[in-house]
Amino acid sequence: MAVALQDKFSDVEEQLTGLAGSPDSNLAEAFGLDKSEIDNEALIAVLEPGKLEAYPPVSLRYYPLLPAPAEAKADVFAPGEYDEFRQKDYASAAAVYEKLVSSADEATRAGALVRLGRVLRKANDPHSALDVYRQLAESGIGFVDGLLAELLARRARCVLLDELNQVPELQNEAHLLWSGLQNAKWPLTPGVYRFYEKEALLWLGSDQLPPGTSFVQPNGALALAAAVEELWRLWQRIQQGVVRPSGQRSLWIEGFPVFLMWRGSQDRLAALVAQPGYLEKELLTPIVQRIVEQQGVRLALADVEGHAFLGEWADGNAQQALRTSVQAQLPWTLQVTSIDPGTFMAKMKERRRLFWGGLAAMAALALAAGYAIVRSVSRELKLARLQGDFVSAVSHEFRTPLASLCHLSELLAEGRVPTDQRRQEYYYALRRESERLHRLVESILDFRRMEVGARECRLEGLDAAALVRAVAEEFAQEVRDRGYAVEIQVEEFLPRLRADREALSRAIWNLLDNAVKYSPDCRTVRVQASCTDDRVAIRVRDHGLGIARSEQEQIFKKFFRASGAKAAGVRGTGLGLTMVRHIVAAYEGQLHVESRPGAGSTFTISLPSERDSE
Ligand code: ADP
Repeated sequence: MAVALQDKFSDVEEQLTGLAGSPDSNLAEAFGLDKSEIDNEALIAVLEPGKLEAYPPVSLRYYPLLPAPAEAKADVFAPGEYDEFRQKDYASAAAVYEKLVSSADEATRAGALVRLGRVLRKANDPHSALDVYRQLAESGIGFVDGLLAELLARRARCVLLDELNQVPELQNEAHLLWSGLQNAKWPLTPGVYRFYEKEALLWLGSDQLPPGTSFVQPNGALALAAAVEELWRLWQRIQQGVVRPSGQRSLWIEGFPVFLMWRGSQDRLAALVAQPGYLEKELLTPIVQRIVEQQGVRLALADVEGHAFLGEWADGNAQQALRTSVQAQLPWTLQVTSIDPGTFMAKMKERRRLFWGGLAAMAALALAAGYAIVRSVSRELKLARLQGDFVSAVSHEFRTPLASLCHLSELLAEGRVPTDQRRQEYYYALRRESERLHRLVESILDFRRMEVGARECRLEGLDAAALVRAVAEEFAQEVRDRGYAVEIQVEEFLPRLRADREALSRAIWNLLDNAVKYSPDCRTVRVQASCTDDRVAIRVRDHGLGIARSEQEQIFKKFFRASGAKAAGVRGTGLGLTMVRHIVAAYEGQLHVESRPGAGSTFTISLPSERDSE
């Protein structure tokens, strides 16, 4: 709040500095001083050596400086004064003055009336004197001896009425004098104002005031005039170089707080003279209202002497925050109190709740981030481990056929095979092992190609029954020597498929290969192909190790190998099923597994018929 106020006051300072550079009556508008509701609450004063101007041109109760009034030439009255003072011949003096009363010159007329009244009093004719003074007061003209003739006339009437003890008339006259002073009817200097006000009040007496009026005007107009007087004194000292030509001050004048801010040089000074009402309406309300509405607080300002300048100064028990004038860099101490302690406490609770809520959310976020990092690191570690397993499995897969190839070719090359029949067997074995190697290399390369999406897919119409049978028979031949049998059950009229022959064959081969690999005891595997709802289902069934339920989803992931397979010491790369799933998915098919540890597994490839996939 202090910062917002400082900003606001910097704006005022800037405007004053501008005004001191080039006085501009429009600036009163910029300060919001042209509005009628802030009458007598603030003004801008521009001071130059021997000159004072106020914006807007308000009427002050008194002015520290007034232009010299136009007065009649003194020698006009010389003959009358000669009779009056030297000769003490009041009748002839009155006659001289009376003649001058009808003069065309206002100042002469006013001077003549004052003198006529005076001489009539001396001549012991107070009633005529009263009439003359009334005439002068009502004409509202001219200056006499630097004083307003009207003021002079009213005071003279009061003195006479007092002497004549005409109380009601005196009251009436004194009130006219007093209210004229209150309403700043006449341009007066401070001393003159104070003198006449004191006199009027003496004649009125406090209980004689008309109803609805009081001695001290609530709008503090007197304070404003006094503040301008104070400013003028300050200006004298600035001109003497005693006081700096820029500053601000919060004063307590004539029972009212007034704020002065001045900017300029020794040649010209612009100043804002403001009472709390103006500051509140024009400067503070927009800031304070926003803060009050948002935070349910109230603002009070107190000057250095501890007078409340604005708002109500709360006692020490209230929930409050204080900024001294030094801290706030403002001419006041700021006090911010809660409008309603209940609301304040509720707000504080709400803030506390938000704070803790935010903290909890941040902690949760940090935990979630930590968890995500740990998870991704452990996933990376797992993958690295799986890759390690893969490398050793692949090396082993290569090593076995390579060792056979080396051994057989060595025997043949050295002529150490005794019979033709044996030699022929070795050649078959050589071919089998090299095909195995070829398949292995191809499947790894294929996997890689498939992963990067570089594998070409040659779609063609396929006879599903023929394809399944061909792959199954070839596989049966392959494993016959190892003691395995393949049961083939293919339905007669299967619909045709649309797929890549080579890829689909490899998928079926992989399933068969797994069925054999993971069935060390029961050496019969079964291949079935059937049709349901225009979809072809190819099933490969074994009665081998089976797969734990918890691992049945994971076996399709790259490099993953089930615990049962590892425990039984069966080697593998963990790529086969991943590849099968990719291939099947490419033809909008699905791959399922049903398995029970110890009872065996059934893998099912389900593909749409050629009609359906078109
Ligand atoms: P690999 O057989 O080379 O390890 P796969 O991707 O073909 O890789 O298979 C992944 C895993 O799924 C295997 O390691 C094995 O644990 C399990 N698995 C696959 N087929 C069978 C099956 N017919 N019987 C039991 N387990 C199997």
